[in-house]
Amino acid sequence: MVEQPYVYRHAELAEPDWRRFPGWAGVTTAEWESAQWQRAHCVKNVRQLRGVLGPQIAEEFYSDLERDQAERATMSMLVPPQMLNTMVPALAPDDPAFTEALYADPVRRYMIPVFSDRRTDWPSHPYSSRDSLHEAEMWAVEGLTHRYPTKVLAEVLPTCPQYCGHCTRMDLVGNPTPVVDKVKFGMAREDRLGAMISYLRANPGVRDVVVSGGDVANLPWPRLEAFVSDLLAVESVRDIRLATKALMGLPQYWLSDEVRAGMERLAATARDRDVSIAIHTHVNAAQSVTPLVAKASKAMLATGIRDVRNQGVLLRGVNDTPKALLDLCFALLDDAMIMPYYFYLCDMIPNSEHWRLGLGEAQQLQLQIMGYLPGFATPRMLCDVPYVGKRWVHQVARYDTERGISYWTKNYRTAVDADDAEALNRQFEYYDPIYLLPESGQQWWRAKVAADAERAEAVEAAGEDADVDERVGALAGWSA
Ligand code: SF4
Repeated sequence: MVEQPYVYRHAELAEPDWRRFPGWAGVTTAEWESAQWQRAHCVKNVRQLRGVLGPQIAEEFYSDLERDQAERATMSMLVPPQMLNTMVPALAPDDPAFTEALYADPVRRYMIPVFSDRRTDWPSHPYSSRDSLHEAEMWAVEGLTHRYPTKVLAEVLPTCPQYCGHCTRMDLVGNPTPVVDKVKFGMAREDRLGAMISYLRANPGVRDVVVSGGDVANLPWPRLEAFVSDLLAVESVRDIRLATKALMGLPQYWLSDEVRAGMERLAATARDRDVSIAIHTHVNAAQSVTPLVAKASKAMLATGIRDVRNQGVLLRGVNDTPKALLDLCFALLDDAMIMPYYFYLCDMIPNSEHWRLGLGEAQQLQLQIMGYLPGFATPRMLCDVPYVGKRWVHQVARYDTERGISYWTKNYRTAVDADDAEALNRQFEYYDPIYLLPESGQQWWRAKVAADAERAEAVEAAGEDADVDERVGALAGWSA
């Protein structure tokens, strides 16, 4: 055999034994496989985590977590048992190596971040922001982002069955944390969903609707089914994608009788109308793909929907190697029939620098995974460029690697730049983490941050409404 950088071996999926955790020692299989039991036993705070893992975890870990929640976390804690059980799958908490393995665990690193994970030099990029993709600015009606000519994103609710530390929609999704207050929808849910359907009826140029949130698994099933049925009745809609990380985080929900029967009805209507319904999930690590996840995915395919696809996020310490990515893609593809589709660069939200990869790293990863997976299942690495949209990482127009600034172009307008004659000639910027830059680049940023802050202070002191870079506001809030 020729020696290869990556060696493929089919790995059998396995459900880790939840009874290894003292808090779940008596939990039966029937309880474990109940969505209701899973929701009722989600871990929401340090006390509950201690109750599950028991007293043998080093105290240092719990204080590290508490400090993160008080000073850095942009998402509150919400971890379904299904997800917690995939952390350190081969060890019990009384194993002396458990705490160290928990610190290193890829799922723990993004679902239960601790203070010592984060950068202390640049916890946030100076231009990070809460709604870093400016989705709310592009709301055609509240919660309906119209960014691309033929596609919309419907944020039907602001909650999920699980909260990921790196959530792009940290502005809107989840409960407030000591660091971040959340934006609240102003309209009542029924009015909002009704207005979305009315907008789509009035805009036949839109053919593709991503139904998201949050996570659609938190909308009561009858309401979700009614909303998707309304979409199916809009003549111009041809693609519907249901966004749910819960297919992995809470597969028990997608395996429930009510949901399976409802999806069958929706899939039948979609087929009659030549519409594609797909589920888009969000899996970042191979160990998250367990037999229950595979069963849920295959149950959804059996209802007659078009596909189940994965949109992961590239995260340092989670999946930032070709092996981690390929192991994940093969686990998805081989046994769960989930199509690897995208891996996004982590967006420029506050306190995310320790997770973010530079554009150059993502380009390298894209090259390193080529040729192992079937072409149709080779995921694309994406940069979601503010005010532009998704771009493949090699589509960058220009890349200043000293300052970590990449420049991107666009070929369509959003409502935000409808009147901007130069929008299609302009270059839009995206920023690499500063700590990755050469010293000269880091020095440039330090000088820029200091100069911008000084200027902003002078303007404030003078009470003037001067033309200061609005992004400077982020400097005070997030880079301390
Ligand atoms: S499931 Fe998606 S929307 Fe919900 S917290 Fe995670 S990344 Fe955010």
